[in-house]
Amino acid sequence: MSKYDVIIIGGSYAGLSAAMALGRSLRSVLVIDAGNPCNKQTPHSHNFITHDGEAPANILAQARKQVEVYKTVQFVSDEAIEGKGENGNFEVNTKSGKIFQAKKLLFATGLKDTHEVKGFEACWGISVIHCPYCHGYEVRDKQIGIVSNGEHAFHITKLVYNLSKNITVYTNGKSTLTDEQTAKLANRNIMVVEDKLAEAMHEQGHIKQLIFKNGERVSVDALFVKPNSTQHCTIPEKLGCKLTEHEFLQVDEMQNTTVAGIYAAGDNCTMIRSVAMAIAAGNKAGAIINMDLTNELF
Ligand SMILES: Cc1cc2nc3c(=O)[nH]c(=O)nc-3n(C[C@H](O)[C@H](O)[C@H](O)COP(=O)(O)OP(=O)(O)OC[C@H]3O[C@@H](n4cnc5c(N)ncnc54)[C@H](O)[C@@H]3O)c2cc1C
Repeated sequence: MSKYDVIIIGGSYAGLSAAMALGRSLRSVLVIDAGNPCNKQTPHSHNFITHDGEAPANILAQARKQVEVYKTVQFVSDEAIEGKGENGNFEVNTKSGKIFQAKKLLFATGLKDTHEVKGFEACWGISVIHCPYCHGYEVRDKQIGIVSNGEHAFHITKLVYNLSKNITVYTNGKSTLTDEQTAKLANRNIMVVEDKLAEAMHEQGHIKQLIFKNGERVSVDALFVKPNSTQHCTIPEKLGCKLTEHEFLQVDEMQNTTVAGIYAAGDNCTMIRSVAMAIAAGNKAGAIINMDLTNELF
């Protein structure tokens, strides 16, 4: 079995960006990708210059085509399910039963988002959104709900208030906003509703109404929510990589995890989720891995 210089697990924005830097450095690279990026349901991706408003799948297809030019980079559509070994000698097993070896591992595996309220899943990235920079402009001046509580609710509401003055905060249970925060919202005619949510009524992902457990209904055009986000891939943890208090992979400024020879880039290791940031981190990880390989061999 031949050993790759690098196996990249996750072939979306961060993974492909790293693969380009490594391919252009003539490194032998295998990209293992399960084909499930977090933004796949959103019709238009915004705030990434040169691709503003494009469908995420188109951006990825172009990225993949450009990386395929570099012949030392290979691709496999599969899911990595296990990893073992140490710096210089890693082994990765996939769901379909394949085994691959590499000197270095890069995890560009992103996050998995889930939602508690019925209907949110179907609207995710369409009218139930998380990021004012990605989708806020498109819902400017609309009737907006913030489904969140406490500090996060206040933080998002402040940002969204710049885009629309028609905002209601739905805390889905007792508010944990401070008195000062509640007063600031009230001063701006932003109501806080504590009633428990039952369901979102929508048409093909476009939200129409929020239904509460007490039977009441309100009309909304868009909701900003905080999904439950977890690591898409748990192999790094099993290999000993530390997580931060917010459950991101802990990396230093060079995308090194806490385990030698294992790197991470993209959503799995940063609070700031965007295509541009994932691509930048992948680009940096590619260069750093190439530098480490160079220093070890030269
Ligand atoms: C709904 C939504 C809308 C968004 N809209 C925008 C927007 O408009 N503009 C913007 O800039 N950003 C947007 N974002 C954020 C942006 O999509 C992410 O920051 C970006 O996708 C992160 O890239 P990534 O490569 O780190 O992870 P992802 O794109 O999530 O890709 C991770 C890849 O790793 C693969 N993978 C995971 N585990 C394994 C495994 N064990 N084996 C093999 N493969 C694996 C997955 O299948 C997937 O292909 C949005 C995010 C969401 C959730």
